[in-house]
Amino acid sequence: MQITRDTPTQEFDAIVVGTGPCGGFAAKELTERGLTVLVLDAGPMPVPGRDFARHEWPWQEPNRGLSFERRRRPPPPSDRVPLVWAQHPDHPYTTEPGKPFTWIRSRVVGGRSLHWSRASHRLSDYDFKAASRDGFGEDWPISYADIAPYYDWVEEHIGVSGYVEGYPQLPDGKFLPGMPYNCVEQIFRGTALRMGLPATHRRLAQLTRPHKGRPACHFCGACTQGCDIGAMFNSIVSTLPSAEMTRRMTLRPESVVRAVLMGADGKAHGVSYIDRLTRKDYEAKAKYIILAASTLESTRILLNSAAGGLGNSSGVLGHYLMDQVAGASVSGFLPQLQGSAPRNDDGKASGAFIANFRNLKDRHPKFIRGYCMSMSGGQTSSPGFALSTPGYGSSLKEKIRRNYPAQARIYMSAGDMLPRFENRAEVDANRKDAWGIPVLKITCTHSDNERAIWEDGTEKMKEIFTEAGGEITSVGRQISTPGGLIHEVGTCRMGKDPKTSVLDPFCRMNDVKNVYVFGGGPFVTTGSYHPTLTMMALTVRGCEHLVRSA
Ligand SMILES: Cc1cc2nc3c(=O)[nH]c(=O)nc-3n(C[C@H](O)[C@H](O)[C@H](O)COP(=O)(O)OP(=O)(O)OC[C@H]3O[C@@H](n4cnc5c(N)ncnc54)[C@H](O)[C@@H]3O)c2cc1C
Ligand code: SF4
Repeated sequence: MQITRDTPTQEFDAIVVGTGPCGGFAAKELTERGLTVLVLDAGPMPVPGRDFARHEWPWQEPNRGLSFERRRRPPPPSDRVPLVWAQHPDHPYTTEPGKPFTWIRSRVVGGRSLHWSRASHRLSDYDFKAASRDGFGEDWPISYADIAPYYDWVEEHIGVSGYVEGYPQLPDGKFLPGMPYNCVEQIFRGTALRMGLPATHRRLAQLTRPHKGRPACHFCGACTQGCDIGAMFNSIVSTLPSAEMTRRMTLRPESVVRAVLMGADGKAHGVSYIDRLTRKDYEAKAKYIILAASTLESTRILLNSAAGGLGNSSGVLGHYLMDQVAGASVSGFLPQLQGSAPRNDDGKASGAFIANFRNLKDRHPKFIRGYCMSMSGGQTSSPGFALSTPGYGSSLKEKIRRNYPAQARIYMSAGDMLPRFENRAEVDANRKDAWGIPVLKITCTHSDNERAIWEDGTEKMKEIFTEAGGEITSVGRQISTPGGLIHEVGTCRMGKDPKTSVLDPFCRMNDVKNVYVFGGGPFVTTGSYHPTLTMMALTVRGCEHLVRSA
């Protein structure tokens, strides 16, 4: 890959900031369409053999693989995903007392694509046009028909495994063969279907057969630690190599972008950035600026680019921040599998999946919008329930062995969070990061609607678990902290009316026509499913628009 630490002085056609799923796709699409592109990323270039935890077992790690929620020590959040963190002394952010927000980020070439759970679901017009149906907020300025070809394009490039089902609220895609269900998943799926729920397998950007030079998955189960063979989609095995093939991409890691630079003509003409290691300031020039530094980092760059924020004539830049609802879960055992033969159920980020079924035809009395659920279990790498199993000695071991193949869990994968103006990110003038750049102050809370979704999900999960003959041993007690699901979107929303939006329907800034923002920022609603596939599809659509209108 053409990686440089030099300071490029020529003018590029475009600068892309960030190399996560969206920056990677922007680099690929623009270079393949003939543009010269400088890609700047704040983080280092990872070396999979060195930086991914790969196949170490939890007990081989200093903190036994404990998660960031349980260990609460910055950084890293977990020894198993050392490149992803929430709190970091070099990268602070602030919140109001009593209003926590968990901002889980990574600064490395590839961004969070290196460690994501790969769930890749399309939104539908139930999501894009939700406001027309329930009267809350605004519709997206695009419909499913506008984005469908770009979902196809992204799925064909990254490789998404799944089954065609025909559920209108979860449109089918261009799938690689679906993954087989394990025993727990088969029982749950059968139960859900009997109950009239729209069940399928999670759609995963994880290869079930060789695809575009990448090998098929061998189900080792190390995915969120980083897949060293490239069987799960990430930017460094997929989009960035495609961009590199064109020989039109220059990639400069360790480049922390501070602001978009404006010319007297009202157009952006470059960005200012700081070398992460030497802390020297630089400028780079281009005809187009693409911000793809993640939802909140792109908005931070805009807020730091001009007094009151660049491109903020609408006053909505930074507003309508959303994450999705999680925290609802039910765990226990399926007695029909207790004592069954040992199996290897590793290698999937959850198997069976229930698409949203609320507020499609009928109106729920307590909430609008919806949620999706995952159903998983079996003999995965560690028997998490063992820690809370009472007893000792050989009878304890026997109990754990007997329950191991039968462990089972249902949980909310993503529930809608309503877009509310008061949920926002703004610049905190009193605090700067290690590079002297003002940080974000984030204010985001759940509303009664989100709490009602969480409660409804919990009750539905108990019903499914019981109907499957399961024995429930624990029920999730609280709704997730905003940000905790790592599906943060909004703050730079698209719209038809420049008075109420920052971006046009192609993710181009209304006020500065040669700046595009890709990622979760343009989202108008969260939708009921995982957001990243939609972010990538919006990126491809926006890049096509840029090249057509150049
Ligand atoms: C553990 C985990 C599991 C997840 N599972 C799923 C899932 O199953 N499905 C799903 O849809 N989503 C999932 N997500 C969320 C998903 O990873 C994000 O939605 C997605 O990565 C966002 O893509 P992005 O390109 O906008 O930003 P990111 O992936 O965050 O990439 C941003 C890039 O910008 C760079 N950058 C940041 N600031 C600057 C700056 N100032 N200057 C230069 N560069 C900068 C960073 O180094 C990074 O490379 C998960 C996330 C995590 C962490
Ligand atoms: S299970 Fe598959 S996708 Fe995950 S790390 Fe192993 S090979 Fe890669």
